[in-house]
Amino acid sequence: MNSVDTKTDVILIGAGIMSATLGTILKELVPEWKITMFEKLAKAGEESSNEWNNAGTGHAALCELNYTTEKSDGSIDISKAITVNENFQISMQFWSFLVNRKLIDNPKDFIMPMPHISLVQGEQNVNFLKKRFKALSNNPLFAGMEFSDDPEKLKEWLPLVMKDRTSKDPIAATKIDTGTDVNFGALTRMLFEHLESENVDIHYKHSVNDIKRTSDGLWEVKVRNEQSGAIENHTAKFVFIGGGGGSLHLLQKSGIPERKHIGGFPVSGLFMVCNNPDVIKLHHAKVYGKAKVGAPPMSVPHLDTRYIDDKKSLLFGPFAGFTPKFLKTGSMFDLVTSVKPYNILTMLAAGAKEMSLTKYLIQQVMLSKEQRMEELREFIPNAKTEEWDLVVAGQRVQVIKDTETGGKGTLQFGTEVITGEDGSIAALLGASPGASTAANVMLEIINKCFPQHMKEWEPKIKEMIPSYGLALMDNPELLNEVHSSTAKTLRLREKESVLN
Ligand SMILES: Cc1cc2nc3c(=O)[nH]c(=O)nc-3n(C[C@H](O)[C@H](O)[C@H](O)COP(=O)(O)OP(=O)(O)OC[C@H]3O[C@@H](n4cnc5c(N)ncnc54)[C@H](O)[C@@H]3O)c2cc1C
Repeated sequence: MNSVDTKTDVILIGAGIMSATLGTILKELVPEWKITMFEKLAKAGEESSNEWNNAGTGHAALCELNYTTEKSDGSIDISKAITVNENFQISMQFWSFLVNRKLIDNPKDFIMPMPHISLVQGEQNVNFLKKRFKALSNNPLFAGMEFSDDPEKLKEWLPLVMKDRTSKDPIAATKIDTGTDVNFGALTRMLFEHLESENVDIHYKHSVNDIKRTSDGLWEVKVRNEQSGAIENHTAKFVFIGGGGGSLHLLQKSGIPERKHIGGFPVSGLFMVCNNPDVIKLHHAKVYGKAKVGAPPMSVPHLDTRYIDDKKSLLFGPFAGFTPKFLKTGSMFDLVTSVKPYNILTMLAAGAKEMSLTKYLIQQVMLSKEQRMEELREFIPNAKTEEWDLVVAGQRVQVIKDTETGGKGTLQFGTEVITGEDGSIAALLGASPGASTAANVMLEIINKCFPQHMKEWEPKIKEMIPSYGLALMDNPELLNEVHSSTAKTLRLREKESVLN
């Protein structure tokens, strides 16, 4: 028996950073719309958006080497890095707006300045880094980046990494001080607190089990109240499926044709966390290395200073792995039940193509702690096993789809927006660059789903994101303005003080 039936304008499924961002933007654009949110867990930001489940990198392509690839002629393709950086500037402006509007009291509760460093070893990699540096440092988006292959300079930048280093291999790094460490879990929770105060109807411990189109063009969402066991029906004009790893199953339930030929492949993660405060003190940066040959881009190892639970921490990873679950709190049947008659060929094609990825992930799962320590010792030569603990990170569900360039069953490493033809439903799939691009991705959804309102909403969007619709790279004055105003509002130029 259905105990509750409600009608609302918007239903958000899932209390992660994506729903939080979409809800907050919509509340600014149309405060009178009724918004309802359902989350199966007891709190917001408990899955991938949680600070312990992701790496907290504000992805702006400042140090992640997988966003710049070497072309066959030896030149460096920086187009992806430009897109990632431009998208991150949108997030920075949106977060600044939230602080200026006093929706967030103290930006240090979720964002901290953090040097972003790329570190490579071996002659070939050093040459690559040099070329990458040259290509990026001519671009205003990456202004301030420095390169060094001088061990003395590297000792200044990376005391912990250079300490006791005996290898004679050439080593080099680039450093840029405008990078960030972002606590996406804290941000998600703050945004949901704000939404609650704005009368958004928030329901934790409510799992969405089904989504159906009604005869009058609305969406009916079947929800199980996990406390009482009651099944509720809620209808809305617009539904956002922001279930993270849970989104693929919900998209499939919606029955929209766009759900076909799409699959998901789960990749789990593990971090190593340092438990020695004296070691933690010696490092202050996010240091990204180069992915090993054959390793997927999301498994690039990095050594990260993080600010979590009001204290400075040091994490290494994530190590990739495999479980068939789509969410950390998901089911062992997630992968199997996501295979449907309309995506089985896509999935089989991906299975055949990605044997090496499967092999790599299985190898990763089998690694012992000591083997993981050996990987860490490439960054910290004298790392001691007893000073590092393992923690399980979040699940990423990489999208598999048929593409023109890659053919059937191509594995995607980006974030994918799927919308119904009439714009009444949208889903977000995929992982990287993930949370860092939430504001841009949610604006993309708004653009696709509410084209009839865009003219009316544009002034408000520009108030939130002054560079909206413009490429900052082509507008250096505006770029400077955005860089300095966001740094000031988000207090990114202040020296590390409160936390240590
Ligand atoms: C190991 C790892 C490292 C990462 N590092 C970074 C990084 O450094 N920088 C970065 O920007 N991004 C990073 N990401 C990606 C980033 O964490 C995600 O892109 C982002 O958190 C996704 O947010 P979301 O709101 O879509 O999903 P989530 O945060 O997973 O939220 C989805 C919510 O939906 C709920 N839900 C699911 N199904 C249902 C249902 N049926 N009914 C009700 N509720 C449901 C879940 O319980 C969950 O709370 C990383 C991810 C991982 C796993």
